[in-house]
Amino acid sequence: MEMKHEDYYILEDQVSIPYENAYGLTWTRFFEGLKSEKIFGSRCGKCNRVLVPMRSYCPRCFIEIDDTIEVSQEGAIVAWVLTEYEYFGMPTKPPFIGALIRLDGTDCEFVHLVGGIDLSNPDQVRKTVKNGMKVRAVWKEEKKGHILDIKYFEPVK
Ligand SMILES: [Zn+2]
Repeated sequence: MEMKHEDYYILEDQVSIPYENAYGLTWTRFFEGLKSEKIFGSRCGKCNRVLVPMRSYCPRCFIEIDDTIEVSQEGAIVAWVLTEYEYFGMPTKPPFIGALIRLDGTDCEFVHLVGGIDLSNPDQVRKTVKNGMKVRAVWKEEKKGHILDIKYFEPVK
């Protein structure tokens, strides 16, 4: 008997994996900074690159980093994607824009959301949001020491 894909039985289920992630000193400092609206990065003493979020070591030089600096809350979009479909475990409800943002004075991309713009029309979003566009952090009123204490990055007018 020939079966089509839509004839197959489908088991719908859900798997939940509770876990704890120990942040250690470096990430604890980073998330503490968010509570007071500061974004902390680390400067490598050898290659001088500024990495954000903070790192305990430089992944290029393989040396320990203990130079913490507050970085700019403004930067430029390097790449972005408009997400319209929802899947399990998303940090926020779609539609939203996930982006790689190069904060001013840093040497790597910071992954976050871009908001403060109308996302109802994808064609309009593509005309509005461009790589290289300047953005700045918008903070939530209540902070928890979580990456989403930064609500999103909004275009700088
Ligand atoms: Zn380095």
